[in-house]
Amino acid sequence: MATTKKDIRALTKDQLREFFVSQGDKPFRGNQVYEWLWIKSAHTFEDMTNISIETRQMLEDNFVINHIKVDTMQRSNDGTIKNAVRLHDGFLVESVLIPTKSRSTACVSSQVGCSLDCRFCATSRLKRMRNLNPDEIYDQVVAIDQQSRLYNDRPLSNIVFMGMGEPLMNYNNVLKAIDKITSKEGLAMSPKRITVSTSGVPKMIKKMADDEVKFNLAVSLHSAIDEVRTSIMPFNEHFPLADLREALEHWYSKTKSRITYEYIVWKGINDNKEAVEALIQFCKFAPSKVNLIEYNPIDDGEFQQANSEAVNMYLNMLESRNIVATIRRSRGKDIDAACGQLANKS
Ligand code: SF4
Repeated sequence: MATTKKDIRALTKDQLREFFVSQGDKPFRGNQVYEWLWIKSAHTFEDMTNISIETRQMLEDNFVINHIKVDTMQRSNDGTIKNAVRLHDGFLVESVLIPTKSRSTACVSSQVGCSLDCRFCATSRLKRMRNLNPDEIYDQVVAIDQQSRLYNDRPLSNIVFMGMGEPLMNYNNVLKAIDKITSKEGLAMSPKRITVSTSGVPKMIKKMADDEVKFNLAVSLHSAIDEVRTSIMPFNEHFPLADLREALEHWYSKTKSRITYEYIVWKGINDNKEAVEALIQFCKFAPSKVNLIEYNPIDDGEFQQANSEAVNMYLNMLESRNIVATIRRSRGKDIDAACGQLANKS
């Protein structure tokens, strides 16, 4: 049932302190509740055992905690875990834990559905319903951290914003979530372990640079030839490569941090020398890394992974021009948890 009570986690710590003062209590009570909400990740007011029963009831009367619920959890043969996450208003998003030998990476969603239209991506078939709130993004990370500790005996080491949605179309909330994730009053993770992956929204990349964010940037490029890129990512018509490149130059001039490009090589689309040469010309202005990602077909088979000769051609040509390149094998394919497969099939 819809509630008119306010989500308590929309309040800043100062606002929470002020609320308690307005109730005739001490500001310190706000600190205690804030700690329960963010560090201890309390799901209910009842969990707050060092708060008096009367105060907990008063909080219950005024606020809600819109905590996410992991509806279903699927575990792949390779240890990858995919969560279908239920939001307080019934919508579902997905998040993934990707364990490797040295890392435990969370891939989190930033929107319900997506407003962009990458033709190779399962999420693009879901209309964008709404942006996720900062606490809904934060909760996905907490849930995956707990799963990593439970199944792999170690905490989460990295986070990528590469799940459902375009994070830069929900920039303010993504930023607020990252603030909490990196705060000592949250998960205290280093921003250097967080990567925001965008399909390339030039205006927002410039804004990130001007905001002097400390996390990493990855761009899903897939082609450095406008005509080809527009055919697979139609929004490229409105955000052409020249604008993207200008925004990235601005990013690099401000941050001096290496830019990562996510790149899939498809049969008959970009598996040729001309495409690699265009990629080199596009990214050589700054230290760059190209992740050549293995493609996971989404049902209709329109896009097919290029053969290994083509992928190796990319690797060799990039390396010969001193651009770092790696081949990323996909994980969690058997549970549709791999890149581009998140579409609420669970
Ligand atoms: S690849 Fe990312 S930006 Fe493109 S449609 Fe899928 S979720 Fe949206």
